[in-house]
Amino acid sequence: MNARTHETEGGLGTMDGSVTPVQETGLAAGPIVVEARNLRKVFTPQDGNPPVVAVEDVSFQIRRGEFTVLLGPSGCGKSTTLYMIGGFEKVSGGELMLHGKPVAGPGPDRGIVFQDFVLFPWRTVLGNIMFGLEMMRRFDRAEIRARAEHYVQHLGLAGFENAYPSTLSGGMKQRIAIARTLATEPEFMLMDEPFAALDAQTRDRLIADLSRIAGEQNTTFVFVTHDVREAIRLADRIIVFSPRPSRVVQSIQVTLPRPRDSYDPRLLEIDRELRSLIGRHAPDDPAS
Ligand code: ADP
Ligand code: MG
Repeated sequence: MNARTHETEGGLGTMDGSVTPVQETGLAAGPIVVEARNLRKVFTPQDGNPPVVAVEDVSFQIRRGEFTVLLGPSGCGKSTTLYMIGGFEKVSGGELMLHGKPVAGPGPDRGIVFQDFVLFPWRTVLGNIMFGLEMMRRFDRAEIRARAEHYVQHLGLAGFENAYPSTLSGGMKQRIAIARTLATEPEFMLMDEPFAALDAQTRDRLIADLSRIAGEQNTTFVFVTHDVREAIRLADRIIVFSPRPSRVVQSIQVTLPRPRDSYDPRLLEIDRELRSLIGRHAPDDPAS
């Protein structure tokens, strides 16, 4: 089976459970657009409580056009890492480079989608999608409408253009949030567990649709999840985080053909190996 390429000698991780350094190979097509080197983030509470090391020492590379998933258990610093890429959180140590320059702050090149949809209840579906485009102040009204209508179709929202978010399901709301961000055509789509609150069936359809859409866009996706199966269905590359103190355990390429079926035996095999890798780095593991 050659469904994915291990990038470290000896397969996924090492037998003794120690953390394997990540070795990037030049297998992927695109140039490196994001690079973290010994990235660190410490939160210092104002109330005198001790500092929290959210990200201990994280190194990885993201290539243009790749769908990259940051995978790891809750609390390991995935969101914090994503927000540093987005420029919403400052870096405490190490380096975080975007096109070879340190991330200086947020920018329209990086669109973000959160788990909790932040939609305007007083705007229709189309109005919500138009919002991001209006903020850009780059297009006239007709262009904004045309673009928004395109993404309505693209995200399967046709027929709901004039509905208000409160009348729609969680899955539909998340489609609106994704459409609104994609419509601005950012270079990067940063997504923080966008499907975590959805029921299994809705989530399944959204994963399939996002996988298809990602294949049609030039966008570089950086998607955070703690769900192994979701990661494998979506990713070209999975960057596996250990529990806190967080490090990158492994960076693997997933080359399974799309669309990916959850029950494909090759997918299940990667699922099994990833779970075993993550398990070896669990906090109750004396080897970790
Ligand atoms: P993940 O997304 O992997 O679940 P997070 O990046 O949200 O993890 O958080 C990593 C750690 O940093 C957690 O222990 C969390 O409680 C802590 N943390 C996150 N944001 C803050 C903050 N603003 N202030 C203090 N601690 C924080
Ligand atoms: Mg998170």
